[in-house]
Amino acid sequence: MSDIIQLLPDHVANQIAAGEVVQRPASVVKELLENAIDAQATYIKLIVKESGKTLIQVIDNGQGMSATDARLSFERHATSKIKVAEDLFKLQTKGFRGEALASIAAIAHVELKTKQEEDEVGTEIRIEGSEVVSQEVCVTPKGTSISAKNLFYNIPARRNFLKSNTVELRHIIDEFHRVVMAHPSIRFDMYHNSSEVFNLAITNHRQRIVNIFGGKTNEKLVPVKEETDLVTIHGFVGKPEYAKRTRGEQFFFVNGRFIKSAYLNHAVSSAFEGLLKDKAHPSYFIYLTVDPNSIDINIHPTKTEIKFEDEHSLYAMLRSTIKHSLGQFNVAPVLDFNR
Ligand code: ADP
Ligand code: MG
Repeated sequence: MSDIIQLLPDHVANQIAAGEVVQRPASVVKELLENAIDAQATYIKLIVKESGKTLIQVIDNGQGMSATDARLSFERHATSKIKVAEDLFKLQTKGFRGEALASIAAIAHVELKTKQEEDEVGTEIRIEGSEVVSQEVCVTPKGTSISAKNLFYNIPARRNFLKSNTVELRHIIDEFHRVVMAHPSIRFDMYHNSSEVFNLAITNHRQRIVNIFGGKTNEKLVPVKEETDLVTIHGFVGKPEYAKRTRGEQFFFVNGRFIKSAYLNHAVSSAFEGLLKDKAHPSYFIYLTVDPNSIDINIHPTKTEIKFEDEHSLYAMLRSTIKHSLGQFNVAPVLDFNR
């Protein structure tokens, strides 16, 4: 009998992990923006070319990295955000798995420039297919700039699988929307093929939503607010008369993170019961703040689904809060004579 099991080399393991973390250019955008936020940046600039297929660059004015950390940041399971398993239940950061940079570096040409406030000079590192090609000192402002070029250059099957530029740009903008809506206290700019797409000044949640979805949005919003031991709910729902047939502007954020939840979506829809025309979907922008201990974020690599400890109470609370808000704004039931 012979032994046939062996450990995968790092670059192979990284490429496999990359398959989960990086589905398309928008996934890279999400990870890099989240890292910039975790680094306490107050200004974040996103530059993409050809819908992210040739370039995705995120520049932040956050805390930067030391030369050693800069190098380490591309290792798998390398993170400054948790140390022990219990930390998973106290999370204040977006990241914690320590695999985004390792994954991106496995499937793109990556350039990192970073400098901490107290350092005279910064560090510049280039990586191709998980291999460090160069590391030098450089002159760069405080903060970090990471570029990922030629995504999936070494996995033709994945590269061919990418959709048209229009579709990939749509995904990037959707991801950008989710991040910027959760963080109105950060300034964000976005450029595509050298033209400015967004220029978002520091503001509040309502104004950030209006800046993204257009001036007319303001009159459509009904504020929602409630605070209990379990959860703080704040945000806005769209007035029923503006509800559309297409599901569009539906956003839940939990502790500053965009999440998808069919269950909570149902809670919101049921609060609108009797107020909407057939097949219309309400729009909502709901920010929930809960004890990090009462949720589990670590159920999927992209972290857009989470588990709540007390889902049923949350459902009931959300439904009644929204019902109450709609009632306060004297939103009358729709009289549908076509029934
Ligand atoms: P995670 O975010 O899960 O920790 P990443 O692979 O995304 O893992 O990043 C690895 C580490 O690199 C982070 O924990 C952080 O210490 C550092 N890092 C990444 N991006 C930045 C950035 N923009 N500014 C400062 N540090 C960063
Ligand atoms: Mg990260």
